[in-house]
Amino acid sequence: MDRSKNFARELPEGYRLIKTVDAGEKRLGILMNMGAAVLSTAVGAAGFFLKFGKNPGSSVTFGGSIWVVEGALLGLLACLIAYLVLHELTHGIVYKILTGEKLTFGLKLTCAYCGVPDIYVTRKTALLSLLAPFTVFSVAFLVPFVLLSGPLSLGFLILFALHFGGCVGDLYDTFLLLFRLKGKLLMRDTGPKQTFYVYDPTDPA
Ligand SMILES: [Zn+2]
Repeated sequence: MDRSKNFARELPEGYRLIKTVDAGEKRLGILMNMGAAVLSTAVGAAGFFLKFGKNPGSSVTFGGSIWVVEGALLGLLACLIAYLVLHELTHGIVYKILTGEKLTFGLKLTCAYCGVPDIYVTRKTALLSLLAPFTVFSVAFLVPFVLLSGPLSLGFLILFALHFGGCVGDLYDTFLLLFRLKGKLLMRDTGPKQTFYVYDPTDPA
């Protein structure tokens, strides 16, 4: 596979910086987490109403024991931690397949991240990596939510809702790439921070 078409090692002449999205920056980090909370709540409430609206009690009928409930909550927490790791790995797998370059992973107060810091990726590479976890885990959580019933279904709804909200940064970058930033474009992704460059040979700088 010819990966060289998917990225550039140096920023080519004629490109200029037009947009920075830094989730590690305090203000944007807080805004994104608020956006995530709103999205998760809305998606979770909509899913709950659609599935359990007629009989809300059916979603929480455990064996009755407090230990069962505690076990379920611990299970959910374990799933969330595993999800966080797998989400970032999914970004990384796509970056690795398309570029073969060195990746970076990490965790900040405001976000977990994966980047490919030493290169400038094309719009297509950026979109494929950004949307991979969103697509994979939406299917992975929605299918069991629809097919199962009771507390298990509710568990997958909670995972789906948190996943959906947690993708707010990925979805924002996707929105910029699809609808806002026109023309020939390269993106640098250091993990928490994405910088976007467009080709503009008329720019004197
Ligand atoms: Zn992501």
